Parts: sequence; C-alpha cells; structure tokens
Amino acid sequence: MKKKQFKAESKRLMDLMINSIYTHKDIFLRELISNASDAIDKLYYLSLTDENVDIKREDFKIRVSYNKDERSLTVSDNGIGMDEAELENNLGTICESGSLLFKKENEKREDIDVIGQFGVGFYSAFMVASKIEVTSRKYGSKDAYVWVSNGSDGYTISEANKDSWGTDIKIYLKNNDEEFDYDDYLSDYKLEEIIRKYSNYITYPIVMNVKSSHLKEGTKDEYEDVYEDKIINSMTPIWKKSTSEVSEEDYEHFYTDTFYDYEKPQKVFRNSVEGKCSYTSLLFIPNHAPYDFYQKDYEKGLQLYSNGVLIMDKCSELLPDYFNFVKGLVDSPDISLNISREILQQDKQVATIAKSIESKIKKELVSMLKDDREEYIKFYKNFGTQLKFGVYNEFGMHKDDLKDLLMFYSSNSKKLITLKEYVDNLKENQDKIYYACGETVDKVDMLPQVEAFKDKGYDVLYFTDYVDEFAIQMLREYDGKAFVNVSSDSVNIDSEEDKKELEKENDSFKDLLSVMKESLSGEVTDVKFTNKLKNHPVCLTSKGGISTEMEKVINAMPTDDHIKAETVLEINKDHPIAEKLKKLYESNKDELAKYAKVLYAEARLIEGFTLENPTEISNLICDIISK
Ligand code: ADP
Repeated sequence: MKKKQFKAESKRLMDLMINSIYTHKDIFLRELISNASDAIDKLYYLSLTDENVDIKREDFKIRVSYNKDERSLTVSDNGIGMDEAELENNLGTICESGSLLFKKENEKREDIDVIGQFGVGFYSAFMVASKIEVTSRKYGSKDAYVWVSNGSDGYTISEANKDSWGTDIKIYLKNNDEEFDYDDYLSDYKLEEIIRKYSNYITYPIVMNVKSSHLKEGTKDEYEDVYEDKIINSMTPIWKKSTSEVSEEDYEHFYTDTFYDYEKPQKVFRNSVEGKCSYTSLLFIPNHAPYDFYQKDYEKGLQLYSNGVLIMDKCSELLPDYFNFVKGLVDSPDISLNISREILQQDKQVATIAKSIESKIKKELVSMLKDDREEYIKFYKNFGTQLKFGVYNEFGMHKDDLKDLLMFYSSNSKKLITLKEYVDNLKENQDKIYYACGETVDKVDMLPQVEAFKDKGYDVLYFTDYVDEFAIQMLREYDGKAFVNVSSDSVNIDSEEDKKELEKENDSFKDLLSVMKESLSGEVTDVKFTNKLKNHPVCLTSKGGISTEMEKVINAMPTDDHIKAETVLEINKDHPIAEKLKKLYESNKDELAKYAKVLYAEARLIEGFTLENPTEISNLICDIISK
C-alpha cells in the first residue's frame, strides 16, 4: 500500500501539533465531538428532506470510549460517514479556512495558542495521538475504509469492515513524558469533565459506558460494579433552556467555543419573539474586532436554526452591514428546512426576523450608551467605524437610525460625546456644529484653525477616522444644525465689525495677494489675510464640498480617482509675517514669491500633507535665512 504525503500546508500544521507544548490539549476532544455532531447534522438534515432516508432523531448518538490496555480512545458517530475520496480529501489536507486562520494568527501570536483559540479541527488530535485510525462508512454504501496516520510521514487508506454507517476515530495516545501524562485521558472522570466543559450544548447524546456501583440484588449492603450507558452532555441547546438555568459563564463558554474567540463576549443578549414569525435569538457583541474583521473576505452573518437544527452557518441576510460585528444565532420553527440561499434573500420570514433583530441590536446599544457609558465607549472604539459606515453607505438610507449612536471627541469636554450632547451645549447664538479633521486628536488639537474656535469657547468635534467626514456629509445636519468644517474658508465666527475690517484689508492688498497666488502656480485657489489665527502665521482652508482631509483620504485609495480640494492659503493679518510680506511687495517681488512658496509649504505640513518639492523648499528656506 502506498503511503501518501500530506499537502505542504497540512504538514507544517501537523508538525506544530505533534510538537506542541500546548497546555489545553483537552480541546482535541471537543474538535472530534463537534465533527461527529456535524456529520450527524448532515444525515439528520437528509432524513428530514429526503423521504428515502428513514432515521429518527433519537437514533443518533456520539460514543466516547477508551481502552486502557491499548492506551486508545475512540469517538464514534452514526452520522453521514465518509467514502474513500472524502477520507482522502477531508483528512489529507486541511480545510482552506483552517489553514488561513492558522497562517494569519501565526504571524502575531505564540503559535501554539492559536490551536486552542480557533480550533483546527481533526488535526488537533495529533496533540495527544501518536497514531490515528479513522474508520468510516458512508451512509447508503456498503464499503468501509480506514485512514491511518502517525502524523509526521503521511497516511494510508485501505478497505475495512464496519457494521453500520458512520465514523470511528481511534486515537492511540502518545507516551507519557515529563510534561504531560497522556494516561489522564483513560478515565471516566477526566473524559466526562472535558465533555461537559466543552461539548455540553451538543444537541445529540454523547454517551459513555461508565462504571457505577449498584446494590447487589437480594442483598442489603453488598455493592457490585455495573457498566451502563450514560449520557454525559445536557443536550438541550443553550438558547432553549430557561434563562434561570443558564449562567453568564455558560453563555460565554458557548460563545468562545462556537465562534472561535479566545475572549469572552462584551455583551450577550437573548430574545424570544412569539407571533406571525416566532424566533429565539442569542446574540453576542465581541470584546474585540475579529482578526479578519477588516479584510475583504470577512463574512457577516448569524447561524440559522430551524427548531434546533442548524441550516446555515452564516446567514448574512439576518444582519445589516453596519451590525456585521454581531455574532450569534437565530432559531425559528417558521423557517423551512429546505430553504436555499437563493430563496432566503426573498423570504418574508427571514426579512421579518432580520428587521426585528436589527431593532433589537439597536435598542441594546442605545441602552448601553445610556446606562453604561464606559462599556459603550469600549464597544464604540471597537466597532464605531462600522456605525459611521452605516450612516454613509446606501446613500445615507440608515443615517437616522444610527446618528444617535455616533460619538466624537469634543475639544471642550476632552472625551467622546454624542451629537445630541453637542447640540445640548451650544453657545448662545451658535447654530452650527463645528468640526476639524486630522490624523489624531493631538494633531487636530494643534491645527491653527482650531485654536480660534477653542479660544472663543466653541466646542469643536475632532474627526480622526477617515470615514468621519464622509458620514457627516451624508448627515448634513443634526437637530437642524449644519456641520461646518473649521477649515472651510467660508466659516467665520467673527463680529460683523471684524469681518468688515478684514474685507478692507484683503481689498487693499489685492495685488500683493495675487502675486503670491501666481507664484504658487495653480496650487491654491486663493491667498488671503485672515483674523482666525491667533498665534499661528498661516493655515490652509478649503472652498466647496471637498475638504483637504477628504482629498487625503480619496487620493490614498488604490484607485485612479484623484481629487483636489480647492485650497486657500490664509495668512494671519496680525502676525509679523504679514508686515514682512507687505514690505517685500514694495521692494522685492521675487523675494515675495519665495516667501509665498515657503509659507504654503508650512501650511501643507501643518495639515499633514507631504511636500511635493522638498528640495526646492529646503533651498528656499536656506536662501531666506542666510540673508
Ligand atoms: P472542519 O471540521 O473545520 O471542516 P476538520 O479538519 O475538523 O475541519 O475536518 C475536516 C473534514 O473532515 C470535515 O469538514 C468533514 O467533512 C470531515 N470529517 C471530520 N470528521 C468527520 C466525521 N466524524 N464524520 C464525517 N466527516 C468528518
């Protein structure tokens, strides 16, 4: 018989598994039991949808047994089974997602822990096994096959005998070493403990033949050891138990096991709805963004059950994009088992449930914000960006639903506040919401334009997330107050008198300003004096709908779409530099042009742009200061 090699990827993982010093080796049993349960799910599902398959739910079971002499452990199921090709394909390579997970996480973490946190299924058995035999017979077939491997140097598949359909996975335990006593697994107590800890919610009975003491028949005080089958797990899905029976910890365990998270969820909420479309939902907000959350192939969705039977692992129709971070499940007796992905999209029941789930999540978030602000802020730091995308996407269709969940850093209170809190604290006569954009709070705080607003006591919201300004443009206003960028050239918080004076100043130095503008050859739409800067010499503002920040964001995208904001170079009319410029205009227009370039470069740097001509600017500065 020819020995086959594992695919390269699998081999690497296998080596890791075999040599693992992983401290939670126990999870291998969870992985094997979950696989057994999946295999039974598949056959049970078939029995419900195909009349030729006649098996009752009560007939299904998973059996865990061990043999001390052989030092072996076996997990058996009467699920769908595998034929020869499936043994080859399923166990000869590691499923795509598993290996991806592994690769990704391996970059950041201690490799071994990955296994416990995410589970890599079947292969985890090599943490405890020196050899594994998988004997399987596919439902409906008479032939059985056995797959054998000792992990490191490949596997064989050959014909075998098996009385009925299903799969037996037999593990020969590794030899004990200083670090680990593998014999631990050869005990009722230990196995029961692991099963209850990790697989309690598995919906099929997990049976062990265990020893118990019974009163000997016909005697009063003589006991005898009896072996009998015992169901170890509680079986009822956690969401079908009465709430008083389930502890917070049970939910947390369920969450970490089901959704492969290593941290417990931030929030758990369970909900039952009776009516035209009845359902139970069990939802979780993760404590951190999933590792692949910002990747393109991240899939949102909830598990969909029909009366306790899993019909879909990630039903994306149940969640709007802006709540894509929510994990969990929906169980509804009103959903047909035969529902296909295509039908799902038009299914009225699913749409009804989705609507109800959406408002439930929103309600939860609103009350978290109201009752436990600290928790909400933690949540918002993880997933707030998603809500802002929600405001922006689909042409703002959901903006009104989401606007009260948004928060931004406020210059006055120096922490995150809601839009409502902003408008509740407007200054007298203030009818706008002022904001400023930049990379970080500190950088925004140092923007020259912001200073004038803070100085006059206006609260300014700091937008540091690249989606912020786009979302706000979609909102346009909140409570009738328009959003205004402090870096927009038209914004003005001065008195009428000051405005007039400034206009006069700009008017009388029209020619000077236009010489400066020309020397910047098309870079700016305008150059003007301003009174909005207290200590700073210059700043950049923008005209029209595109701000300098949006220019940065859009131009950083990997597309050919490039835009340019209409920028205005503003010069502090009370700064000594203004006097200097006026003098140069009279005496040396060439020098004035150089100054214009340097001042514009300064303003760009302050805004966080790079210079396109750093050498020229550096030479100009040298030229000026060496005079
Ligand atoms: P995963 O379960 O994440 O797909 P595994 O490595 O645990 O990855 O298993 C690989 C595949 O082998 C499964 O997807 C399934 O098709 C098959 N398999 C594993 N265990 C069993 C079993 N007990 N019965 C039937 N098929 C199984």
